Amino acid sequence: MDVLDLQTPALLIDRERLQSNISSMATKAKSFNVDLRPHIKTHKCIEIARMQQVAGCKGITVSTLGEAKAFAGAGFDDITLAFPLAGQKVGQAVALSKTTKLSVLVDNPSPLKELSEQAYHAGVVVPVLIKVDCGYHRCGIESYPEVEALASRIHALPNLTFSGILTHAGHSYTAPSKDEVLMIADSEQEIMIDFAVKLQARPTTPSQLTVSIGSTPTISTTPRIRKGITEVRPGNYVFFDYTQVALGSCKSTACALSVLATVVGTFADRVIIDAGATALSKDEGPHHIEPDCGFGKIVEDYENGTYVEDLKITALSQEHGKITGDSRSLSSLRANDQIRIVPNHSCLTANLFDSYYVIDGSSVVGKWKIERTRLQSKIQSSKSCLEPG
Ligand code: PLP
Repeated sequence: MDVLDLQTPALLIDRERLQSNISSMATKAKSFNVDLRPHIKTHKCIEIARMQQVAGCKGITVSTLGEAKAFAGAGFDDITLAFPLAGQKVGQAVALSKTTKLSVLVDNPSPLKELSEQAYHAGVVVPVLIKVDCGYHRCGIESYPEVEALASRIHALPNLTFSGILTHAGHSYTAPSKDEVLMIADSEQEIMIDFAVKLQARPTTPSQLTVSIGSTPTISTTPRIRKGITEVRPGNYVFFDYTQVALGSCKSTACALSVLATVVGTFADRVIIDAGATALSKDEGPHHIEPDCGFGKIVEDYENGTYVEDLKITALSQEHGKITGDSRSLSSLRANDQIRIVPNHSCLTANLFDSYYVIDGSSVVGKWKIERTRLQSKIQSSKSCLEPG
């Protein structure tokens, strides 16, 4: 099947670029002498995780228990849930721990007692990581004494092991330049090594302490990873996207994900496509670097990674995308033309689709499912609210 025969909007993966991104990051982690535990929330796809496994990743990172269940069901048996464990999820986490090594993450003691009790009754030991805030100021602990106190608390509870510290330098995404990303990458490592050294001086700290860092911008750009860091967890690197291009994480020719859209309306001052917010997401992309970047870049020459710079996707409604810009370029687009768009944020874009079309040149060579399953709540079926009487 030819790419242009696909129903649009369609989500395309360039097989060669995907493989190249996976191999390069695996080689980089090996050369830095750290384990690679990629975050699979970017792709949520078993086939891609298997490619990462073949390339040598140690385990995987997930952000939901739904992802953990889906990937454990496909045979992935070493999973880190890199999202703070909520009290209501303790039961599900323990249930999964019976069959899979599931490391959980906390930045406060609230779920620990319940986690310990349920782990004890289930006969499992749950590894617990502490989230450190290295400057993103989202989740995590900033001060070392608080990390130490939480580690002691974990250590004191039955059926829990304190296994290490984890951070995510998400503030690298708002860095104004690659130099700034490099400074963030440096401080991410420095803070974690400082905490790790202090923890290792304590007799109760395990000798194999996990010291886990990682965002795609920091890991892609850093020229070194210092001794003491044991693991990296980038996720976005499998696809990259326009934000990563603007931050300097990759070249435009590394972007492996694109959205195929069809022109459905042409006007003197605008062109309308069938890719709106439900295909591209409303992520504003690197607007702090390029204020008029729009909601994704329209591809001019795919092989050379160039974009149509005088046309921008300036507005999105649910299913419509609006392109504005130079009137001559606008008039070159005709109804039913197809265009390719490199999204601003590939993780959010992938989350909007059910499957990827894998392409090799202009041929569609596969279709891979996107596992978007969330944990379901059990409710009593309430026939009475649907039927009168
Ligand atoms: N670890 C955590 C906790 C994250 O939240 C993320 C992404 O949001 C990652 C790792 C992966 O980072 P990136 O998406 O930059 O590859």
